[in-house]
Amino acid sequence: MQLSGRAGEKCQRASRHISPSSRFSSSPRPPPPNPPHPTHTRPPKSQIYVPSHPLSKHWLAVARNKLSPPPVFRSALAELGRILLYEAVDGWLPTVEGRVETPTGVADCTFVDPGEPVVVVPILRAGLVLLESAATLLPASRTYHVGYARDEATLEASPYLNKLPPRLTPEDRILVVDVMLATGGTVVQVVEDLVSRGASDANIRVVAAVCAPPALQALGERFGKLRVYAGMIDAELDERGYIVPGLGDAGDRAFGTE
Ligand code: URA
Repeated sequence: MQLSGRAGEKCQRASRHISPSSRFSSSPRPPPPNPPHPTHTRPPKSQIYVPSHPLSKHWLAVARNKLSPPPVFRSALAELGRILLYEAVDGWLPTVEGRVETPTGVADCTFVDPGEPVVVVPILRAGLVLLESAATLLPASRTYHVGYARDEATLEASPYLNKLPPRLTPEDRILVVDVMLATGGTVVQVVEDLVSRGASDANIRVVAAVCAPPALQALGERFGKLRVYAGMIDAELDERGYIVPGLGDAGDRAFGTE
């Protein structure tokens, strides 16, 4: 697993070798209560970024709390999503130079290039919540929804909605957004679909509130250049495929359908 690029300077490594010089990780902290599962401590190849920003931790804590009602859960995930999206697009969005008149002069400026909109792919339902801030955050983007339902017995995910365009290019910058990366079954299918339409894994970034080692393993084995931006990597899955300690059923908690 590697750490590179500007985003890497501001994020902690997802392995246990956390960089002590990280801009946001200077305060000492106690050892994690749930160390990663020993068989999955080193997800292969994919690059995993976990921001150490205190607000990222705060909003994740609010979302984790089982007493947070749906509106609080949703706004916590939206805030966390905003931080993760900022990290995910840092140094990656195409820009153009220009000039604007200010009330007192003329300023040379850098703008996000509206000619190269980012492709955003939220995985329904819960991915929508993490994206709530994205519409205001990304000046130019196109959003293509996909929906997957999980069979609770087999844990297999199958698609029920797919609004992806027929063709993508390796130059398209693509953000895949899902709240929970648990077994990885859904996100792997989505990324495979994107690549089969012409996208390159080098230009795909996955944003998730919480992920677990099996999903990172599955992504890393198939897509060596893909990056994951996550609020936290949790230790394991339970027998129902839920992340522990996780957030519970993120879709149900977000939409009050428990
Ligand atoms: N989906 C969820 O909503 N929660 C999990 O823990 C795993 C998958």
